[in-house]
Amino acid sequence: MRFRWLTGLLVVVPLLSVRSEPEAANPPPAWLGYSAQNAVLQGQWEGKFREAISAANIRENMRRLSARPHHVGSPYDKDNAQWILSKFKEWGFDARIETFNVLFPTPKIRLVEMLQPTVYRAKLKEPAVSKDSTSGQTAEQLPSYNAYSVDGDVTAPLIYVNYGNREDYEKLDRLGISVKGAIVIARYGQGWRGIKPKVAAEHGAIGCIIYSDPKGDGYFQGDDFPAGGWRPRDGVQRGSVMDTDYPGDPLTPGVGATANAKRLSLKEARTITTIPVLPISYGDALPLLSALKGPVAPEDWRGALAITYHVGPGPARVHLKVSSNWDIKPVYDVIATLHGSTDEGQWVIRGNHHDAWVNGADDPISGQAAMLEEARVMGDLHAHGWTPLRTVVYCAWDGEEPGLLGSVEWVETHLDELRNRAVIYINSDTNERGYLFAGGTQDLQNFVSGVARNVEDPETGMSTYQRAHLHAIAEAKNAEERSDLRKRNDLLVRALGDGSDYTAFQDFAGISSLDLGFGDEDDGDQYHSIYDDFHWYTTFVDKDFSYGRALSQTAGSAIMRAADADFIPVDYTPQSQAIEKYATDLEKLVKDKQEEFTERNLELKEGVYKATQDPRNLLLPPPAEIVPPYVNLAPMKNALVVLKKSADRYSAALAAYQAKGSPVLPPQALESINADLLRVSRLFLNQKGLPERPWFKNQIYAPGAYTGYGAKPIAAVREYMDEKKWAEAEGQVPQVSQVIETVAGGIDKAAEDFENALAQGAK
Ligand SMILES: [Zn+2]
Repeated sequence: MRFRWLTGLLVVVPLLSVRSEPEAANPPPAWLGYSAQNAVLQGQWEGKFREAISAANIRENMRRLSARPHHVGSPYDKDNAQWILSKFKEWGFDARIETFNVLFPTPKIRLVEMLQPTVYRAKLKEPAVSKDSTSGQTAEQLPSYNAYSVDGDVTAPLIYVNYGNREDYEKLDRLGISVKGAIVIARYGQGWRGIKPKVAAEHGAIGCIIYSDPKGDGYFQGDDFPAGGWRPRDGVQRGSVMDTDYPGDPLTPGVGATANAKRLSLKEARTITTIPVLPISYGDALPLLSALKGPVAPEDWRGALAITYHVGPGPARVHLKVSSNWDIKPVYDVIATLHGSTDEGQWVIRGNHHDAWVNGADDPISGQAAMLEEARVMGDLHAHGWTPLRTVVYCAWDGEEPGLLGSVEWVETHLDELRNRAVIYINSDTNERGYLFAGGTQDLQNFVSGVARNVEDPETGMSTYQRAHLHAIAEAKNAEERSDLRKRNDLLVRALGDGSDYTAFQDFAGISSLDLGFGDEDDGDQYHSIYDDFHWYTTFVDKDFSYGRALSQTAGSAIMRAADADFIPVDYTPQSQAIEKYATDLEKLVKDKQEEFTERNLELKEGVYKATQDPRNLLLPPPAEIVPPYVNLAPMKNALVVLKKSADRYSAALAAYQAKGSPVLPPQALESINADLLRVSRLFLNQKGLPERPWFKNQIYAPGAYTGYGAKPIAAVREYMDEKKWAEAEGQVPQVSQVIETVAGGIDKAAEDFENALAQGAK
């Protein structure tokens, strides 16, 4: 059933270079899912693939796609989609554009002015820079704003709230400051920007301003633009402030935003903020922050401006006015298919968004340009005799920036097909220089580690696996972590929240997912600014596109390897270990809170706070807390024992398969093993979803309602713990345990079919 692409091809296409490291004594990860025979052939195809990836093409893709502003609804957004479509077709893909109609507000009125003690009107404008030609494309640029801010017109005293997280408000309470009726100013950083207005509103604020402090991404980090790569005085971070209830179109939660979809009214949409929000530069924030009095800000609240940071309230009094055009706009997803050689109908899916806030060279074109180069080379290999076993689907998403619109609506629309067919989703987004980072579901940890062993790091010449592995050792917090890492022969895959287009695949549809990218050798940051463009990227970031090439090589090899594997290349031992760690973290959280609150209550009783109180600098004692009871996690721990047993059993079957020399298994056996493996990741879902966010179905992997981007594994339990609702947290344990046991059952079935296949093969 699968060998047709083998025919004749070794004769026709001479081998170029096949780069791979000599394997360690304890082999695969690299060829997880492969018979020995197919691994050899696959190694040759992949070697040709990696060799053919051209940095110059990636550069040209970026030049073309970032040449003009291309946000949702703009002429160049559509133009890019059509160009991408034509390229996929040229490369031999069966490609089409799928259009969805989504709510996308654009700014109509933006005003920030200080009325007291002095008058200052914010510029809200990023000036053009002469040596950066696209920075002057003012006619097409989307002004700086926060999408999905509610319309509003408010005037009130100003209060500085640090990052505007929940802990910051606990500190404000101790400073005796309430934000009720005030406008807050928060700095960017530490989680999803939409959390800032959400928490501010929960505490009674009536408006929210977010600014970029130079400590985070400006001159404190390095020379600023245009001399250096970092955000200049007037640079502004645009961005969505959509609430975390559900991603995608605010008007069509859970269903695709197709032409005839039933839509909520604007009033019913739950993901629009309740108070007006606007982002500003530090140039505009400086007069406002300088005018604040009241207590000096706690030390860890201070940024890098040359002022003494005060909290307020006032005397600065600010007028904030925001209003948007609340239009329905089209998003254009380009979906390109390279049909597999079997009619099993399994899909291997690759995606990166193409929309940006402005020119978006880094975000998202650095990833998009690399992804397109993968597709070009795959098309070329196909023309020379390679046909994937499984169907390969390349997706260039639109509307990621406002709220993952293109990918969420597509997944919601195609949910049934995806349930039956999707094997893996591999995402990328921005790409820079440095180390390989892999996030995702850890059933793919061995798989992606194997791929990384075969890709060369352009700066060191070692493999990207080796470099990332050594980097992890360098970054480890203690000797124990280092020793753990040294024993591993895989890269730790971190859990994903909802930072990019993998969200709907992992959290809503239960599809094993990876998010890949290089970074951490920072030369600058112009995130969501007009200066994130071709000039800036090619001057300060991946100048020679060698890391663009490395991303193409990594993600493309992963797609080919997942597409051609005899059986789906998952291994559950790393996943079972990761989930066990998440459960241990829950236990630790309870224990830490018990200790913290016991100590705090004791100090309150002893008068420690009173004794150490400086009467001139008010810092109120924190409130007494109820010490958390023991939370019964036993059902979950028992379920994890079952999961470990199943994962070990499947890993043992893999080892037995290798020990037999990885023979080609009979087609019927492979068919049932693949069907089993396809099903396992769906078993992480519970159709009721998380208790307060039903759109999020995955019971292990989810973002936090109060962190956004960041993952909160086992969120059903974890989030109640964060809110000190211990009984509710415990109430979630049985159903999470049930999900873990169901997953274990699914893995057992795969292990059993594998064992049977091996036993038959031995006869
Ligand atoms: Zn992006």
